[in-house]
Amino acid sequence: MQIAFIGLGNMGAPMAANLLAAGHALRVCDLSEAAIDAACAQGATRAANPADAASDAELVMTMLPAAAHVRAVYQGEHGVLASVPAGIPLIDSSTIDPATVAALADAAARQGNPFVDAPVSGGTVGAQAGTLTFMVGADPALLERIAPVLAQMGRNVVRCGDTGTGQVAKLCNNLLLGISMIGVAEAMSLGEALGIDAQVLAGIINTSTGRCWSAEVCNPVPGIVANAPASRAYRGGFGVDLMLKDLGLAVDAARAARLALPLGALAEQTYRRSSRHGDGSLDFSSVIRQYGDAG
Ligand code: NAD
Repeated sequence: MQIAFIGLGNMGAPMAANLLAAGHALRVCDLSEAAIDAACAQGATRAANPADAASDAELVMTMLPAAAHVRAVYQGEHGVLASVPAGIPLIDSSTIDPATVAALADAAARQGNPFVDAPVSGGTVGAQAGTLTFMVGADPALLERIAPVLAQMGRNVVRCGDTGTGQVAKLCNNLLLGISMIGVAEAMSLGEALGIDAQVLAGIINTSTGRCWSAEVCNPVPGIVANAPASRAYRGGFGVDLMLKDLGLAVDAARAARLALPLGALAEQTYRRSSRHGDGSLDFSSVIRQYGDAG
């Protein structure tokens, strides 16, 4: 299949590599020349801009930082919508707000293109291994059409409902993840302050009712989980600033829905404090550094 792939960052580059390995022809576009060069070295073809990439595509994939970038790539002067043939599915895997998805889906529908929100979980490790989970907002017939391609980048392709619901699922999951990491950081810090060995405490939590991904797989105390970001000075993983962006999306969506979100709002402020202290590019488990000695 001829695929336009736009956004070759930490996630997009390995996703594109998996599509190339599966035998697709990719025309790629990014603001970074180095990212384009790396994809071309793996067999992709360079496009001058998103419109160029999409002009002969049978499918368009985008993996961009935030809503402003997604709007620019689809609706900008040399954007995808300026050239893409009618009927071609447009799949955005960036994490953005459901309202932007709705607006883009309307614009795309006016020229006969279905727009699909398909955000992912699984991080850069999952992107490399091709084991991502796609949370898809699309009607069942469209999902059937695109699922084989998504399955070449991921292990789970889950239909969440109609357009926009993929982003809803993603925001709700990351809201909970952001809150649970602060909870684990707080519990581990209290335990250390009161004198229990951190490894013993983690073992208890992970076989008790406090068990969760943030405690078990990504424990924020260095040395508890050998391959967790905490054990490599919080490098790699899921950055504080990306978590901050996702919590902001959740808090904004809650405001629009007139729903109180007290823990989400507090979590957003907590990660903002980490970011202001210079930890924005560190894994979000570095939030434990706010509690003192532990990190
Ligand atoms: P990234 O910043 O590493 O990559 C984004 C890429 O988009 C960059 O290469 C950038 O140059 C490119 N880009 C930006 N504007 C562009 C434009 N106008 N035209 C062409 N290219 C443009 O980000 P990432 O870590 O790959 O994340 C991408 C999305 O996936 C984000 O929405 C993020 O929240 C989400 N996500 C990330 C992770 C993770 O672990 N990193 C996990 C799940 C979801």
